[in-house]
Amino acid sequence: MPKFVCYHCIYCCFFRDPIECPVLFPWEKRVIEDLLEDGETNTSFEPLEVWRDSKGVCIVTLYRWVIRGFCPFYDIVMRRCKIHEMKPLACQMFPLLVEVPSGKVMISSKCLWTKKNQKLLKELRRPEVIAHVFPSEFTAAVTVLQQYNSILEAVREEKLVRVNDFSSCKLFVDVDSYMVGDYGWRERRKEEGEEGDKTLL
Ligand code: SF4
Ligand code: SF4
Repeated sequence: MPKFVCYHCIYCCFFRDPIECPVLFPWEKRVIEDLLEDGETNTSFEPLEVWRDSKGVCIVTLYRWVIRGFCPFYDIVMRRCKIHEMKPLACQMFPLLVEVPSGKVMISSKCLWTKKNQKLLKELRRPEVIAHVFPSEFTAAVTVLQQYNSILEAVREEKLVRVNDFSSCKLFVDVDSYMVGDYGWRERRKEEGEEGDKTLL
């Protein structure tokens, strides 16, 4: 079974539709915000998965990184990502896609490799085969699932309620900031005698 080889085409760094754009954890969003140059206008971040606590605080667990056209970090001449070492997990795992919370792993039809290897796709149903063909991408996909499951565990402990309509949210708080903030989860664990500085990830 041949391994995935990236052709360095332009397809995974050019976006026409927000639904195709990368999904980021809040801490990844903040890294990207820091890396973006002032005045960058073709990109924005939209809360994608939001929860509410008993005090009405809206907590974001996932963002959509909306990019219009080429990603600002894409080097069109060299056809390379300029932030390769720091790019978010969604980019690291592409052309793999992960559905949460189900954990279903899919292969993007947008990828040129996928288009050229249609005959192989039926073989790519078993996780061990996907891991063989896409070793680093599969590792990134597993990391996404592990991090997402850690978030879900914290969300359940805190008894947060999923919010489908964000329009009533006056303030959005990133889930990792929320968990270490004055809202209680970590502090309460300390009071209960558990390890106080346990990280979310
Ligand atoms: S961060 Fe890099 S890999 Fe991700 S969309 Fe932008 S240029 Fe492409
Ligand atoms: S679409 Fe596929 S082949 Fe093209 S740059 Fe992205 S991962 Fe590589």
